[in-house]
Amino acid sequence: MPGSRPSIRKRLPTLTCYWCGAQATSVEHVPPRNLYPENPKATLIEVPSCRKHNEDLSRIDEEFRFFLQSACHESQVAKTEFNGRTMRGVMKPEAKNFRARLVDSMAPAIFNGKPATSFSVKVNELRLYFEKVARGIFYHHFEQRFTGEIISANSHISFPGFDAREIIKFVVDHREYFLTGTPTSPYVFTYEIARVQEQMGEGFVLAMKFYDEISCFAIGTTTPNSANPV
Ligand SMILES: [Zn+2]
Repeated sequence: MPGSRPSIRKRLPTLTCYWCGAQATSVEHVPPRNLYPENPKATLIEVPSCRKHNEDLSRIDEEFRFFLQSACHESQVAKTEFNGRTMRGVMKPEAKNFRARLVDSMAPAIFNGKPATSFSVKVNELRLYFEKVARGIFYHHFEQRFTGEIISANSHISFPGFDAREIIKFVVDHREYFLTGTPTSPYVFTYEIARVQEQMGEGFVLAMKFYDEISCFAIGTTTPNSANPV
């Protein structure tokens, strides 16, 4: 179980990347640290990472902080962070391209009967973001790298042509098999995870909640080609 061994930071020279298995060079936070308030009163989840699977993905972390928080309607933490650090980040000169993309993709929408604004996101980056979190959580929880493919879906940011209902039904039907995740801050991130036996090997189902509001599911599968949503 996580937490029973010396910290990832101390063991880093002996560890390999949670995603690709290369020599680890840094510590990656799962989910990304930028989702938490500046001085989180919680121990964040850490995994060993290579450069490619940590620093090189930090631009996506920055952008999805914006999308996740802007999709929240209830969470005070999300609102405070969004209006503070997140907006300051978006206004920085280096975020110029992201700003331009946001403005281009803005469209009026209705959410829960109230006027809202929708943004479009790059589907491959959306997949990559949640794949990263899912692989990180699997590594953290079971102290091993998941080598299969990841499929994900969530309640607020939609994947074109992908229906999350089957995953949600699976989670509800198999409630008793889910292990409660390591707590960080319940106002920012919680998860439950279950390992499942597949024909080709072992997979997993991960149920995550961001800001106590946005549900996200990920399936890790070892069955070839199943990672292409219909
Ligand atoms: Zn890597």
